Amino acid sequence: MFSAKLRQIDAEITSARTGAELATTLGHAKLAARDWIVQAGHSETVAQVLALKMINASLARTEFAARRIKTVSRPFGLLVDPCNACTLACPGCVHSRKNLFDWPKGMLSPHRMDAFLRRYGSYAVQVMFYNYGEPLLNPRTPEYIGMAKRFLAQTMISTSLSTTRFDADAYVASGLDYMLISIDGTTQTVYQRFRKNGDIKLVFQNIEKLVAARDRAGCKFPVLAWQFLAFEHNRHEIPAAIQIATDLGVNEMRISEPFDVSWDDPSLLPASDSLGQGIELHPVTPDDYSRNWNRFPDDLAVNSIQQAFEGAWPIIEQGPLDPPTPGHTCQWLYMNTVMDANGRILPCACAPTPRQNLVFGRLDPANSAPDLFNTPLHQSARAHFATGLQDAADPHCRNCDWLDAQHKADIDPSHIGQYAAAVHPPILDSATRSWLSDWTF
Ligand code: SF4
Ligand code: SF4
Repeated sequence: MFSAKLRQIDAEITSARTGAELATTLGHAKLAARDWIVQAGHSETVAQVLALKMINASLARTEFAARRIKTVSRPFGLLVDPCNACTLACPGCVHSRKNLFDWPKGMLSPHRMDAFLRRYGSYAVQVMFYNYGEPLLNPRTPEYIGMAKRFLAQTMISTSLSTTRFDADAYVASGLDYMLISIDGTTQTVYQRFRKNGDIKLVFQNIEKLVAARDRAGCKFPVLAWQFLAFEHNRHEIPAAIQIATDLGVNEMRISEPFDVSWDDPSLLPASDSLGQGIELHPVTPDDYSRNWNRFPDDLAVNSIQQAFEGAWPIIEQGPLDPPTPGHTCQWLYMNTVMDANGRILPCACAPTPRQNLVFGRLDPANSAPDLFNTPLHQSARAHFATGLQDAADPHCRNCDWLDAQHKADIDPSHIGQYAAAVHPPILDSATRSWLSDWTF
């Protein structure tokens, strides 16, 4: 097993005291890791990309524990908006309160997606194709999902599924692992109280199309999860929703607590008691996830992975590393990066407003130089938590009131363990997967 080797690499990463020592350790580690993973039965390309993902996770864990201000690790969770627009107008959303938010419309181009994945795809364990837009409105979203799968990342989208143009076969063929469908009711009258402009009949037709496309392809993916945001006005429809979901072939039901949007529509109140629960309707097994993990074994992003492997973790500063600092920090700043359809880089899933400085950078496909995970604003935000320092580059993080979110990024360390569990042939035992997922520092 690669487990013992990874623990040894982790010990060496943790004990490095200078950039020069860390560079030497990482240089040897990636070669040794690749060789071990090949011995476990993987191809050279798969071994390269797995070595990067697993060593990067261990490196990120150490840098998070030390509250480093400048990271060598890359984000392991990527959130990408294929489209900065939506045809619905749910209360509280950037699309219904355009005057409050800074969210210009846009459509993600293949160029930008390709540039983003060449930077971060080899390190990513998961790519979520949504933040503040409807991903189905970009006809190229299935192509982008397929691109991420070719870096062996797991993929997820969240959608209203209330779109007239919907190519179900393309989504099944893309390799998409998981689709979260937001449907907060079973009748049009109740559903549209929150999903304004949504068409529930269309949503149900699109689910039928997806299930038929999966059957035609003989495939269990994407896993379909119905997300029901429980408000006072719709809670009575939950039992009917569970029945409809079961009949349609939806795999899971998630009854979730909504954000409070009563500031925007005072008639919408979250359900008064806790209804948060997940219900398995048509379960998918861990073996199924393993079968979908490497969906395109003969068509991986070989050149990009090779380049990432050769150039992994460039370390410019050879001197002493920041000493560890205890205390709170925001998990997003070490785990995830977010890109909207226009290439704006955000540190987290918070929506920028004209007064909140949350645009930390911009991905220019023609320019591979800037380090978009260590922009001056990233470093200033990390320094704010690590040292309490405030400098001229003043990101919104200093005034962040999204306090709960600081404790859990959308793609968190548990996703690393889940990812490793899907790898086949296996490379990590369950104790090592738990250790790598434990970031309680
Ligand atoms: S469906 Fe999602 S993106 Fe669209 S308006 Fe509603 S909350 Fe916003
Ligand atoms: S501190 Fe707040 S604004 Fe900054 S990255 Fe974390 S959640 Fe986002």
